[in-house]
Parts: sequence; structure tokens; C-alpha cells
Amino acid sequence: MKDILTAPFVEDMKRATANMYRQTWDERNGGNISFMLEEEKVAEYLDLNNVIRTIPTGFDATGLIGKIFIVTGTGKYFKNVEVDPETNLGIIRIAEDGTTAELLWGWKDGGKFTSELPAHLMSHMARLKVNPENRVIMHSHPTYTLAMNHIHELDEKKLTHTLWEMCTECMVVFPDGIGVLPWMVCGTNEIGIATAKKMEEFRLVVWGLHGIYGCGKDMDEAFGLIETVEKAAMLYMLATASGKRINTISDSQLWEIVEAFHLEDSVRRDFLDL
Ligand SMILES: [Zn+2]
Repeated sequence: MKDILTAPFVEDMKRATANMYRQTWDERNGGNISFMLEEEKVAEYLDLNNVIRTIPTGFDATGLIGKIFIVTGTGKYFKNVEVDPETNLGIIRIAEDGTTAELLWGWKDGGKFTSELPAHLMSHMARLKVNPENRVIMHSHPTYTLAMNHIHELDEKKLTHTLWEMCTECMVVFPDGIGVLPWMVCGTNEIGIATAKKMEEFRLVVWGLHGIYGCGKDMDEAFGLIETVEKAAMLYMLATASGKRINTISDSQLWEIVEAFHLEDSVRRDFLDL
């Protein structure tokens, strides 16, 4: 059996959490990540018959029975993952009843998965229906994106459009736009259901005055989506703070990007005024 601390998926979690912490996106215990793993890959490092303990999830994830995830822990700090992954991360398998998590590794101090597990697992189910390649759900509190939430309308079309205008790459990276939820209490099944509903349509979902969800086939895609939104939000905040904006990318120019990068099938045309 290989050493789990050398597994690429543990390495991915260490790198992502460290990067997000250093970007100041994930203060204290803010942020959470779940990454769906291939059973054969995990079996190289762990005895899959050895369940350390079982933890009720409090909701039905029948669509994910038998699936294995590496997940950040509740109350754990992203800054500590790279120095002590076995306390701050856990590997769980969804049990036959669909409502229990079987702990296969991690949370060695008796901890458990993030309180946002409902939003994560429901989002995994939603994304897998749209894209069977999806593996990662990522939640974060990016600073400029949140600052922008205070001064910009929390409307999907308007928020997406403003971010598309900020720099040329935005249309290329997220032509499918950004879903927006109003402010809601976090850590509940209700916000999980609402997030998953948006995830059927979007790879990015803003939680009003809280943060953002991103997803992807790997850590880079999920991270890159959030990073690009955050960069555009930073540009918006800096440009707005100057008190005047005299240039922008017009809708017809945004459409030129769509044509140049062949994004006609993925772009939210209804978010453009052509
Ligand atoms: Zn949060």
C-alpha cells in the first residue's frame, strides 16, 4: 500500500487550500472543497474495507452512493491543511443508505466534514447530470468579489455582464455566466438545494454577501473560474473607486470574442444586449 500523504489528490487539496489562504480568500475556517475520487486510485493508498467510523450527513445523497470524496473539515483552517492534512482533511464514502458518510481516512482528532457538505454533495449531483466529468466543488470568500456584492446589484445578468466588461478573458473563461443567490443562512440543506439548482445551469454561483461556489473537472478548473471572477471584481472595484470609467468592452465586442473563440454554444446570449 502506498503512503496516502504522497497521493496526488492529497497534494491537490494541500496546494489549493494553501493558494486560497494566501490569496486572502479563506480567512480562519472560511472556505471548503470536495473532490470526487476514483475508487481504484484510492485503493492504491487505503484499504476500502476499513471504515474508521460512520458520520450521518443529515440529507439524502442517494445519487452518490459508493462515491468517494476527499473533503475539508468543519472548523478547520485552510492555512493548516498543508502542514497537517490528516487532521484537516477526510476521505469519505457515501454509504448504501445515502445518508451516512463512511470515514476512510483523516479527521484524526475526531473531526468531521465541512458544514457545507449538503451544498457540496447536492452540487456534485447537479453538475454530474450536466457534465459527467465534473469532480470538484469549491467554496471561497474572495475579497473583491465580496466587496463588489456591496455595491453592485445581485442580479445574474447584470453581475455577469459587468464582469465580462472588465477584461477580455472573462467571456472566454465563463461565457456561461454566473448564478446568483440572495443572502441566505449558510450550512443548511436549504442553501444546498438552492445552490444545486443553480449549478444545473452555472459553473459559478455567488452566495450574496457571503462568497462563491465554483466547480470543474479538476482543481485547476474550479480554482481558475473563481480566480478569474475575483480578478475581474478587483478591476471593477479599483476602476469604480477612481470615480470614473470612460472605456468599456461593448456588447458587440463581447460577441466578437464569442465568435473568435467559438463560444456560441456555451454563451448566455440572454445576458448580452445585441
Ligand atoms: Zn463560506
